[in-house]
Amino acid sequence: MSNWKHNLKGKLADSWARLLYSTPLWRLTNALAPRRMVVLFGHCVDDTNYDGLLAPDMCMSQAKLKSVLESFSKRGYQFTTISKGMDALKRGTPGKSLVNLSMDDGYLDNHDTLLPILMDQGLTASVFLETRVLDERRVNWTHHLHWLFDRLGKAEVVKRYIEREGAQSADSTAIQQAFDIGTKAYYHVKRVLKYDVNPHRRNEHLGAIFLEAGGDEEVLADRLYLTWDKAAALDEAGIELGAHTLTHAILSKLTPAEALAEVDGSARAMEARLGHSPEVFAYPFGRRWDYNEDSMNAVSAAGCRYALNTHKGCNTKDSLPLELRRVPIEQSTPLYMLHAEACGGFLLLEKLGIKLSE
Ligand SMILES: [Zn+2]
Repeated sequence: MSNWKHNLKGKLADSWARLLYSTPLWRLTNALAPRRMVVLFGHCVDDTNYDGLLAPDMCMSQAKLKSVLESFSKRGYQFTTISKGMDALKRGTPGKSLVNLSMDDGYLDNHDTLLPILMDQGLTASVFLETRVLDERRVNWTHHLHWLFDRLGKAEVVKRYIEREGAQSADSTAIQQAFDIGTKAYYHVKRVLKYDVNPHRRNEHLGAIFLEAGGDEEVLADRLYLTWDKAAALDEAGIELGAHTLTHAILSKLTPAEALAEVDGSARAMEARLGHSPEVFAYPFGRRWDYNEDSMNAVSAAGCRYALNTHKGCNTKDSLPLELRRVPIEQSTPLYMLHAEACGGFLLLEKLGIKLSE
């Protein structure tokens, strides 16, 4: 799509969402659009971004979370878990319009901060666990990278990576080129590390540079992630726990056997620790190119009935069970955008042949 068309579409979507939110029009779309569940999606509720250990787009403040929850409760939406909500839609008995709050990876605040807020308001949610860190207190490469950029600076991290990888390697050339773009170096280097380099060597190099620079795996894991005891406390409190792989790997980059090991491994770890198998799964990173047919087969083989990506939209009884959509919440996401999706405003336009949402 050309740029001006993309911009125009964005402006129209924004205006439509504001109109829906600020007038009673939302009641009309809510009544006319097919029954649906909107799944909101974030990572953390923490006012300090874990003292800068996480990228700002991964966290929302407590005030932001409360305003989101209250706005949906006030308008009569029912909070539910993903499996219960989808089952109700499929049976044709959803009652009210449904909303779910989902949080990915399994960060510590999900127990320490989010849970008390949910309990206070009598609401449930879904939390997706990356399980290796719970078992071994070892974090995935993205945390090593963020920590290293912060401590050593981008140029030094790139230099040390290339020293380990070898200057002649195609991976090194790709990383150097991404760094040389200059602006947004963090974004470009991270994208190359995510998609273009050998993932096994990347994990090894970044892990080694992290240790060499004085990083402590256990300290970082304890600061960021839940323990199994805290995950079990979420489970007992009625929070739906879903699987999210062992190491947050991009499944489409793996062989079918490796993908199965990541998906099934996380489901089995949860079964062993919690006493029951997860029914839901979230694809790491969650874009369509981050998973494929083999990943979906792995999800089914692991016993999960529903899986979620990170493409915007809401879900109906006709949604593909292994490709459910979610609407991201960040600190800066306006409430009207979340509500426009939830009230079926974009879904209804789509039925009329007008596609303004993703
Ligand atoms: Zn994740």
